[in-house]
Order: sequence, then C-alpha cells, then structure tokens
Amino acid sequence: MAHRPEDPLPTGPASTEGVWELSEWDAAVDVTVRRLRAYVEDSQLGGSRVTSRRPPAELAQSLSLQSWIREGGMDAGALDDFLETYLSEGTRLHHPGYLAHQCASPDLPAALGDLIHGVTNNAMSLYEMGAAAATVEMAVIDWMLDKVGWAGRTAGGVLVNGGSLANVTALLAARARAFPEAWNTGVPRRTVLLAPASCHLSITRAAAILGLGSDAVVALPCDPIGRVIPSAIPEVVVAQERQGHTVMAVVANACAPATGLYDDLVSIGRICNPRGLWFHVDAAHGGSALLAPTLKRLLTGIELADSVIWDAHKMLRTSTLAAAVLLKDKTDLDRAFRQEADYLFFDDDRGGPDLMMRTVEGAKAQLGLKLFLNLAWRGEAGLGRYVAGRYATAHRLWELVRSRPDFETPFEPQSNVVCFRHRDAQGDPKQVALRDRLIADGRFHLASSMVGGTRWLRATVMAPATDEQTLHALLEAVGLAARQVRDED
Ligand SMILES: *Cc1c(COP(=O)(O)O)cnc(C)c1O
Repeated sequence: MAHRPEDPLPTGPASTEGVWELSEWDAAVDVTVRRLRAYVEDSQLGGSRVTSRRPPAELAQSLSLQSWIREGGMDAGALDDFLETYLSEGTRLHHPGYLAHQCASPDLPAALGDLIHGVTNNAMSLYEMGAAAATVEMAVIDWMLDKVGWAGRTAGGVLVNGGSLANVTALLAARARAFPEAWNTGVPRRTVLLAPASCHLSITRAAAILGLGSDAVVALPCDPIGRVIPSAIPEVVVAQERQGHTVMAVVANACAPATGLYDDLVSIGRICNPRGLWFHVDAAHGGSALLAPTLKRLLTGIELADSVIWDAHKMLRTSTLAAAVLLKDKTDLDRAFRQEADYLFFDDDRGGPDLMMRTVEGAKAQLGLKLFLNLAWRGEAGLGRYVAGRYATAHRLWELVRSRPDFETPFEPQSNVVCFRHRDAQGDPKQVALRDRLIADGRFHLASSMVGGTRWLRATVMAPATDEQTLHALLEAVGLAARQVRDED
C-alpha cells in the first residue's frame, strides 16, 4: 500500500535509547517552572542577594558537579535540589538592585521563546531547517528597518549572536564596499576606521579580526565626556588621506557603553554622506529609544547611516544574545560573504532564503522568535514604555545624586546609564573598593566606568522593579560603603 504523508511513520520499540519519556518531561518542566517562578517573584521583591561571586571551586563542590558529570542519573527531584543552589549563586536581573551591566532583564514572552528553541532546535540559517523561524526573523528585521527609517525594498539585515558579532558583520560589509576583492586577497595596508575612543571594545576587535589590525582604529576628536566632535571629522579624513590611507568607515555611538551618551548622528551623517564615507552607527544599547516617542529624537540622523547594529538582548528584553545587523543597502551585506559551499547550497528550489549567506555563524538559533514574542505580547508601544520608564528612572537617580553635596556626577544622563561617585571615597582604587563592598553587602550590583580619565560608579537601570525607593536606598548604601572604605586605612 502506498504511504500517504499523513500516516505516522512506523516506529520501533518504546525503549529506544534517547527517545523522550514524556512523563519525565512533565515532571522536569513542573519542577523547573516552579523554581523559576519563585526565583522571579523573590528577585522582583528584592528578597535575596542580587549577585553572588563565590569562588568556582566552592561552587563546583556545592553543586556536586564532578559526581553528576561522572555518574549521571539526575531526575526531576534531583534537578529541583540542583536548581535551588544554582539559581541562588548567580546574578538576578529582575532584582531592583540590579544596576550593573547592559544585559536585559528578560521579559516573559522571550523566556518562552528560549524554551521553544531548546525543544525544537530549528537551526534556521538554512531555510529548510526552520521555515517559520526564518520567516519570523525576516519579519522582525523588517520591523527594525522600518524603525530606523529604511522601510522599502533596498534595505536588509540579519540577526546574529550579539552586538560584537554584529559590529564585525557590519564592518565586513563596509570592507566589501571599500575593497570588493578583500575576501580573496585580503585588505590593503593603510586602511583605517575612524571611531571615538569611547566606542565599544568590539570595534577594535572587529578591526583586528577583519585584518586591518587594531592600530587601524584612529580616534576621532571628542569632547571631555567622550562624544564625537563632528566638525573635527573632515580634518581627520583629509589628514588620513594625505598619508595615503583609505578610510573604510566612520563609527558613532548611540549610545556609548561607558556613559550612555549619544553622538550627534545628524551632523556626523551629513559629513559622511557627501564624501562617500561609510557611516556605521553602533546602536546596540540605545537603538531601542526609537520605540519611545519622547526619546527617538536622540537617534535623529540614524537614517543617514550605511549600517546600524541594534541589540534585542539589552533594552528589548530578550535573553543573551540577539542582535540585528541592519544595512541601508542589502546588497552590501550579500557581497560581504562571498563563498560557495556545494554541500549546503546546491538546490535552487529552497523555498525561502538561506540567511547563512549573511552571517559569520553557520547554524543559528531562533533569535527572531524571542524578540517577536516580546513584540507580539507587549506591543511596540509597551516596549517603548519600558524603555522610557528606565531612562526616566535613571534621570531621577541623577537628580537625587546632584541634589546631595556628598555626591558628584560628570554629566546629565541621556539614557538609562548614570555615572556618579561619593566624595568620601577619594581616588579610583577607593571607588573600586566601594563597589566591592556594595556587592558583598548583597543589595546592589553596580558597574564602573572611566570617564574623563577618572573612575566612576556606573548604574544602568534595566530591571522594571527598580523604583524611587530603590534609588534612595542605593544612595544610603553607597554613602555607608564610602565611609567604610574611607576609614579602612
Ligand atoms: C553592548 C554593546 C556592544 C556589544 O554587544 P554584545 O551583545 O555584548 O556583544 C557593542 N556596542 C555597544 C555600544 C554596546 O552597548
């Protein structure tokens, strides 16, 4: 009898090694979901330590890692115990006192996206490995292009595993524009990138990875708080060209990682465009301000860019990592990767595009799904309110800091990043010691930045639970820690 597609395939005995036992799945999911629920509830209330930094040898012991690895045998009950320790020995991004690095406090729909990916593993960079996932990714990319101001058929993009890789990918496209043969023959010497010293370290890494060398990153003149001085750019370009150098791209921050300050994109774009200079906007963190009607003016001029990167795993609240590489002209991205692979790309009848042609990655996770679910659930307006709320809370922190004579702050924030320090903790080492004390105390997790040659405490307001009360408690805790480090010697 002919086999019809709707007939199930014949299967072997139920004991086949590795086939999912679905009652085991039910029990394990039940345990995991309960633990995570309690974790989020407790975190949002600020009931536990925000972060823990016990040494790895101690942790390996309390998690019994060696015996689990050697002997196996974990089941739902054992997972429950394991998770109790595991979840308490990390960093709680839902905690109101979480004010450290620019990682999302993930939202609920995106968390489900991670679970769905974990089960289905549609490694969708070949269309035939995940048609729905690839289609979802293309839809969120189109939405992002529209937000940047590039709706229409010429723009294009792709999601990659993080902002650092997104910068490499965008600058690879810039390299292909400047030197179409570079893929085969390498980059000519004397190729430079112009970027503010305040740019993310991945820009310098990209220069090294793309074969320019890290020395090829020429610092653009900046004001004392690290913002590019646009009027100084033409002179730098002329000076580089006089030395026989080709300027491959000009990079701007939107916003800068250490300070959260935005470069003047309109002025920089107006200098780059008529000169044919590739303009790259690193909007990994600050691109999400495009969703807030009151904030999008910070990104005016982004449409003048040739390439933009924008992380979903910062202010769009997906887990780490998911970053968009957006190109005003998508052929630049298609030209960036010029490679044939006859075992992958042999069939013209693919059904849909193979996004692998646009990425450093081979296989890729369903990155678009988690962003899509946040959008579908909260709406663009809901995500915009989240961004505006975190920026406003950061501004409020700055107002409180400024109103107190025992604190100082180097600039008014433009985003959800605030730099400040307590006057009692004199000098950079004391600021570091103060931060360590706060972390040890367990209620607050701050980061730290160099601005204008000095070290500051840096708060990045990410968690929705951070409120006015948190800010007052933070300043009290910083004051106390400052007096303690002052009196230490
Ligand atoms: C976070 C950030 C990056 C790097 O992104 P990852 O996803 O951490 O690799 C690059 N540029 C800027 C401006 C950033 O804020």
